[in-house]
Amino acid sequence: MKSVFVYTSAFDTYSLGTDHPFKPYKATMVHELCYRYGLFDHPWIRVFEPNPAAGEDLAEFHSPEYIDALKSCNGGHFDFTMLHYGLGTGDNPVFKGVYDFSLLVLGATLAGTRFIITGEADTVFSPVGGLHHGGYGHAEGFCYVNDIVIAIRRLLANGYKRVLYVDIDAHHGNGVQDAFYDTDRVLFLSLHQNGETLYPGTGFENEIGEGKGRGYTVNLPLPEYTDDEVYVRAFREIFPPLARAYRPDCVVAQIGLDTLKRDPLTNLRLTNNGYCTVMEEIRRSCPKILALGGGGYSVPDVVRGWTLAWAILNGIKPVDRFLGSVGSGVYGHGQAMEDLYDQPHRVSDALRKSVDIYVDNKIAYIKAHVFPVHGIGA
Ligand SMILES: [Zn+2]
Repeated sequence: MKSVFVYTSAFDTYSLGTDHPFKPYKATMVHELCYRYGLFDHPWIRVFEPNPAAGEDLAEFHSPEYIDALKSCNGGHFDFTMLHYGLGTGDNPVFKGVYDFSLLVLGATLAGTRFIITGEADTVFSPVGGLHHGGYGHAEGFCYVNDIVIAIRRLLANGYKRVLYVDIDAHHGNGVQDAFYDTDRVLFLSLHQNGETLYPGTGFENEIGEGKGRGYTVNLPLPEYTDDEVYVRAFREIFPPLARAYRPDCVVAQIGLDTLKRDPLTNLRLTNNGYCTVMEEIRRSCPKILALGGGGYSVPDVVRGWTLAWAILNGIKPVDRFLGSVGSGVYGHGQAMEDLYDQPHRVSDALRKSVDIYVDNKIAYIKAHVFPVHGIGA
């Protein structure tokens, strides 16, 4: 195994605003916690400091007009014409360095992609990447650049025949879905809180791709109050059979952690126990994995969860090297500092019943309309 954690403290220099939920500095916290738990202490693991991408890299997906607009906002000055590009909204504010920040996010993701392509790494994690809502000509959902689409295109252009994209963020990966809706070279799978109750309002089970891509877009919408048990069950019914049938050359995983019950923006009820079980399934699915952070707005919970994800990707156990020497409460919610895992959580039986019915229905739809395309269950 050869692993790369892509990280630079330069992320700390950017802020979308003090009240904005997206905190680039969470990368630094994950880096610190991984260090604390000895998760870089193996000869096959390295931490790589990325440089910003070039403007031309953005052009591999985004429109020239959008790139110009984003660039013009870099000084932090807003003018109303920018709203046409989704810039200057509450979700995507114009802030000082917004263009530089976008290039840095992309640079980190593309550095990881390059390691995979050259064979210098088979496992990569870039915590600030995974901006799955970014559109061709506009920003939305905290995403100014769609680093995922550009990374997948790079893989496809460099001899990768089949890329499996799995998105476990609480929001639907609409920007990525749109970019690969008509191709069978990317199998897109997103589990998310349903579009009836959460932005971006898409990702219904009947969105399954078109043309050659029919059956290569898979959406499993989940209702509010979905907890670990239901989530893991649903994931295991859909993901492993599809991954086995598709035989991807590489998995690109958006491992957003806004599914957690304390997340302030969503209504799912996961703990990091369910998340870790799913991460283990993803790890098993392919020797090559490019993992990108994505969402997650209860920052201490996200930091603990991504630390565990990095351990799982590397098949190692976190061991606290500074046990007792650092005060508790920094990354936890009143639990023991040495404990990275959440307390288990299960929703009430009454809630569970309606969640189960909803989810079973969606799984049945996927099995009926998507599985046959892949020869599963035939
Ligand atoms: Zn999200």
